Amino acid sequence: MESALDYHTARALLEWQIELGVSETIGDTPVDRYALPDKTAKPKKAKAEQVAPVKHKEVDPADIARQVAKAATSLEQLQAAMGAFEHCELKKGARNLVFADGNPEARVMIIGEAPGRDEDREGRPFVGRAGQLLDRMLDAIDLSRENSVYITNVLPWRPPQNRDPRPDEIGMLKPFLERHVELVKPDVLVLMGNISCQAVLGKRGITRLRGKWDAALTLPVMPMFHPAYLLRQPQAKRLAWADLLELKAKLMGS
Ligand code: URA
Repeated sequence: MESALDYHTARALLEWQIELGVSETIGDTPVDRYALPDKTAKPKKAKAEQVAPVKHKEVDPADIARQVAKAATSLEQLQAAMGAFEHCELKKGARNLVFADGNPEARVMIIGEAPGRDEDREGRPFVGRAGQLLDRMLDAIDLSRENSVYITNVLPWRPPQNRDPRPDEIGMLKPFLERHVELVKPDVLVLMGNISCQAVLGKRGITRLRGKWDAALTLPVMPMFHPAYLLRQPQAKRLAWADLLELKAKLMGS
């Protein structure tokens, strides 16, 4: 169809319509808008970008233990740091953190294995039957936890059913034990039983190790039979007595 309008008139009309706000022209041919593609349809998701998975550095609980233990400059701070340590499953099953007992100024530091039921309940090491025997053994060479020894364990939480501490648990918590010894600065360490020897000396075989001075953490170390073993094997008390005399002689001589 020929337009009756000349170019200039048509342009002026268009500009006038634009001024009025017209943004869309409607042609002569009808448009079936239902047949048009749905403009409101959600745009297809862009293909997920192929990004290399971010590898999160695995945390080593022993590293964390080392850091927080090192940062502790007093026994109170160390105890608080251990109480806040959330990487050991044993903590979840324990009633209390069993930190230490005795005199922190003592020359003798005794390291046991792990709390049992009584210790877990009271939050103090060696308070059950084995602990009562330990007190009698110390008394026999004029030592006591009130005055002259300081007592802790390799593990501060009770293992379920009193099972032996596992090597991974010992390794994870060892930085706390090492810092504990550093802060107490005893003259000698006494290791009660195989687990303590394993943790501190890296050796097992208490029957062979007991009664002989060794060295670890820059200190003289005396391995001894665990009092719980002596309760089961009273005939071994004779050897434990010899070891106690050896300890006494060391304290007298230095
Ligand atoms: N046995 C240990 O080794 N430590 C304790 O505290 C109690 C029993």
